[in-house]
Amino acid sequence: SLGQNFLVDEDLARWIADQVEPDGAPLVIEAGPGLRALTQHLEDRPKHLLLVEKDRELVATLREHYLDEPGVTVLEADATRFDLRPWYAYGEVGFIGNLPYSVGGEILRHVLTPPTPVRRAVFMLQKEVCQRLAAVPGAAGCGALSALVQVDWEVEMLRVVPPEVFRPRPKVDSAVVRLTPRDPASLPVFDRRVFDRLVRVGFGQRRKQLKNLLPPGPDTWEAAAAAVGLLVTARAEELSLLQWVALARWYEGRGATPDEGQSGEERFDVVDEWDAVIGQETRAQVHATGLRHRAVHLLIWNGRGEVFLQQRSHLKDVAPLKWDSSAAGHLDAGETYAQAAVRELREEAGIAVETTERVLKIPASAATGHEFVELHQVKTSGRIHWPPEEVRTGEWFLPEQLDDWIERRPSDFAGGFITCWKAWRQAGSPMPSL
Ligand code: SAM
Repeated sequence: SLGQNFLVDEDLARWIADQVEPDGAPLVIEAGPGLRALTQHLEDRPKHLLLVEKDRELVATLREHYLDEPGVTVLEADATRFDLRPWYAYGEVGFIGNLPYSVGGEILRHVLTPPTPVRRAVFMLQKEVCQRLAAVPGAAGCGALSALVQVDWEVEMLRVVPPEVFRPRPKVDSAVVRLTPRDPASLPVFDRRVFDRLVRVGFGQRRKQLKNLLPPGPDTWEAAAAAVGLLVTARAEELSLLQWVALARWYEGRGATPDEGQSGEERFDVVDEWDAVIGQETRAQVHATGLRHRAVHLLIWNGRGEVFLQQRSHLKDVAPLKWDSSAAGHLDAGETYAQAAVRELREEAGIAVETTERVLKIPASAATGHEFVELHQVKTSGRIHWPPEEVRTGEWFLPEQLDDWIERRPSDFAGGFITCWKAWRQAGSPMPSL
């Protein structure tokens, strides 16, 4: 049941280990190390090696073997669900595994679906699954998996591996695949939930035409097909990745308008050193001349004591792709901090509340970019839903995980968040009562 086909070809094992480029890497995670076929070729190469194994007896042997190796951590865990969050603090994470066939797909989904700290993945799986992963959407052999994975990753099929190199021998060929992150700017932004649903439904009955499968959209299917450049009779396997994305955007009502970051024309209140309003200026002017202005940051908490962090979109003019408070933004001209907190919560997290809890205020200084900042917080049991032009992805973190990550890699975060987080800690880590 644990898919234990052990690799017995030393040269191949060494070659696979090399493909994750382990030398000097901050962290490599191996799923299912088993009898160390790959692991022995990873030893002493990355700064840290994390071995995630489910079989208790194998874990005991691995622990004994690596007893005196501080750079190796053996985790007895299920690789389909182990906690990835502590490993953001290590930076660019490599992932490797000769994966058990039975749950290989689930392990990949867990490790590769954003958000993830993994930046390079090399794994062995059934040849058919690897071919599906690598097949170009719109070309022969593609499936839902091709589109769902390639929207985030560049997939390279590295080589096919025959059953003879395993004990016991599996019944089918295997293959080795490498994944590296796709440049987020290579696709227009789109709502991930809409995209996933369309792809899954579209490939659910792959012989049927999409017009008979997909949910109703903002206009007729003929209009959708024209907007995306499809025949009205198109089936799922005929769509390129860009067409799937265009279709998701059409369902969202975006049309063909290009993505925009913030506009420099928004107007903010300009304030004096006591935070009293003394005028108004455009966003561009405020930032170019360092005028004092106002902003709110929000921490959203769940019932497990975890706080939501957003990763900023690549379209942001300031701190693109950095991790940031749950939601944050400038006050509009004439707005109060409390009003801005409620508005940002709705706009950036899809959460509707009447009030938020004010936690503290940080005076304007060069460190805050000349902003007076109020930190607010709320507790929610709902799901967060973000606009993709503002937010790339998001994740719930335990406070201790963030402390560790901020300490090790402050450059992963927007400066304003670090200031707020440290102030929240100094204030005694107050949790929201709302
Ligand atoms: N890496 C070794 C090799 O190349 O010879 C073993 C590969 S074997 C195909 C799969 C390994 O994954 C086994 O050690 C098995 O115990 C382990 N395994 C199976 N299911 C797992 C799971 N859900 N989480 C972690 N490890 C698992």
